[in-house]
Amino acid sequence: MPGATGGVRKHIYVANAAATAPADARKNYWVAPALAVTSANQFNVDARNPFGAQRTIVPNTPAPTPIYPTATLVPANTFNIVRVSDGIRTWSPNEEFSISLGVLQVGLAFDKISLNATNQYDAFNRVMTTGLTNADPITLFLRANSAISFTGDGFPDVAATYIYNGQTRNVVYDDITNGVCKAFAAKEFALGQYNPRAVVCNGIFEVSEYAIVHELGHIFDYISGSVLTNGIASNFQLGSCITLIEGSTTSYTIMGYVSPANPWARGRRGWGSGSAISPFQQSPENIPLEATADMFLNWVYRSNNNNSEPKVSSLNTSISPSTPHSPQNGCDVVKPFDQNWLGFLNQDWSAQGAPFDNGLPGETRHAYMKERMIAIFSSNISIGW
Ligand SMILES: [Zn+2]
Repeated sequence: MPGATGGVRKHIYVANAAATAPADARKNYWVAPALAVTSANQFNVDARNPFGAQRTIVPNTPAPTPIYPTATLVPANTFNIVRVSDGIRTWSPNEEFSISLGVLQVGLAFDKISLNATNQYDAFNRVMTTGLTNADPITLFLRANSAISFTGDGFPDVAATYIYNGQTRNVVYDDITNGVCKAFAAKEFALGQYNPRAVVCNGIFEVSEYAIVHELGHIFDYISGSVLTNGIASNFQLGSCITLIEGSTTSYTIMGYVSPANPWARGRRGWGSGSAISPFQQSPENIPLEATADMFLNWVYRSNNNNSEPKVSSLNTSISPSTPHSPQNGCDVVKPFDQNWLGFLNQDWSAQGAPFDNGLPGETRHAYMKERMIAIFSSNISIGW
């Protein structure tokens, strides 16, 4: 799975204190290049691979006292999720609400494109329990504040206990930097120990519903064989509508390959509103894997809003090393038009020095995601999606 080798995902909304700096629409955020790596704009990246081999848990490691989840599975009209704590930090009431909202949004979005699902619960559970053999058919939401390495490599791991169908499960998720959330595929973590799919958040910060949905986007990508990540990797360029709208001879790349010196980028244009980083970009990393999770996040929310259909059409999604693929039709949209939805927007930030933002980047991204997601569900229709 080439798209999965990058690892792992964290996500904290990073405030950008340099919103007045010169804007580069192709860069991830509105900040002068010299500021991009300062601590104020730093993002927490954990590059260790969640698909790694089985681990050996160091014996006699002092484990925290587990707190059993209050949620237990109910067969009908319930999302198959379990919330649990490592015994040190629990989900706050706000965070529990964020999980509920995030899972609901994902279920609603899945239900809109699933031909088999009967409601949002059914849609969520069909997808999120796909392909499991030994791991429990749940998505575990694990809250922790751990600095302990249970695997002995020095990186913080998170251990917890939960009950499923009357069975007590002990799990360890590895290498979660303090201060981030990280998404995990189901796997046999240690011999005979099957971790369920999980979102693990480690440290003292408040997790938003948008971070939850972003992480669920990673899990969706893992489940579907990294189809989304692989689709936007490998020199792919998504172009804006700028050629048709403004008479430019070159379409402007809003996502993908830019040049040998700038091998992959995603413009912040269209990810949200305003000139600060929006909740709809949870990761500033310029890599397909993180673009995938943010694309999923935006697709979920915009799909669940009325009158949010993309207004561009005939998107060329084939892979090409040199030419941005712009929408071939449907770019002639009267602007500004109403954008009463959450998720991908189109903002004119020309006054902030980003003259290409009126190339409908949000429309293009949403049209791309809509096409991709429908294709992924169609390819899995035989297994009940
Ligand atoms: Zn991520």
